[in-house]
Amino acid sequence: MRKIPAYANIVWICSIIAETSSSIKGETSLATRCDLCGRHPVSGNSVSHSERKTKRRWRPNIQKSRVFVDGASRVAFLCTRCMRTLAKSEA
Ligand SMILES: [Zn+2]
Repeated sequence: MRKIPAYANIVWICSIIAETSSSIKGETSLATRCDLCGRHPVSGNSVSHSERKTKRRWRPNIQKSRVFVDGASRVAFLCTRCMRTLAKSEA
């Protein structure tokens, strides 16, 4: 993990941020889609006791994570469900 120089990681992360910000237009947050399973926000209604309905969104819990691909360390935006599954497969 420490073998890669710090500046190389920074360059890689910057390229990732540039990619995601250009691909997802109109989204304020950094990542709204899981890189592994493709989970994304879904919409529905928030319903009060009097059954008045207002729009709401359910966002997946996306976290920036370090993953190993072909022996190399990489940054990926994963949902916490995928992070848990990966942790299980590593053990
Ligand atoms: Zn996922």
